Amino acid sequence: MIIAIDGPAGAGKSTIARRIAQHFGIAHLDTGSLYRAVALRALALGDAADSTIAVRAAHELDLSLLEDPRLRDDDVTAASSLVAAIPAVRQALLGFQRDFAHRPGGAVLDGRDIGTVVCPDADAKLFLTATPEARASRRSRELQGDAGGAIYQHVLADMKARDARDSVRQAAPLVAAADAIVIDTSTLDADAAFAAALAAIAGRIAVTKR
Ligand code: C5P
Repeated sequence: MIIAIDGPAGAGKSTIARRIAQHFGIAHLDTGSLYRAVALRALALGDAADSTIAVRAAHELDLSLLEDPRLRDDDVTAASSLVAAIPAVRQALLGFQRDFAHRPGGAVLDGRDIGTVVCPDADAKLFLTATPEARASRRSRELQGDAGGAIYQHVLADMKARDARDSVRQAAPLVAAADAIVIDTSTLDADAAFAAALAAIAGRIAVTKR
């Protein structure tokens, strides 16, 4: 069973994907961390905006970087959506993601293009979304326990810039697959969002098996 979960930054994808994977006893891959690892390596090599460097970093992907605490730093976050816009970077990461998805037992993958490009054959596809304000408020609370101050303004501006870049790029833009179930998590807490996601997946799998 392959479950694809896509959506913009801060919509709760990774948390829900982890819980869904636990629920079904299958593996989980946060594909954003792959682009972050490429960005981290490209920054170390010189310049993440240089496509030759970014493509080299993608081909030399070092999976140990997925555990690197610098993966969530601001400069790596911004650089991740720059390297992700380069088609050859996406191509270099495709095989790993598809192999992961097609492992025995299946997997949950979350990202931006799982339902559209990486696993168009997924058994269930969710597109999680939320207003930019709700997403920024959640992320700033995670960062500082503060949903209204300067951090919030910074996170909101950063998220809007990244969403815009991810949505308008030519290569695998952020878009819901035609057959994805869209869930707006703006007013849902973590448990309610998980319950909504689980119900949507159960419904889709029941229909497929009929
Ligand atoms: O999900 P996360 O915010 O960690 O992703 C970091 C960046 O990686 C995103 O802004 C996006 O540009 C890119 N990404 C992507 N395709 C994916 C997952 C992430 O382009 N499947």
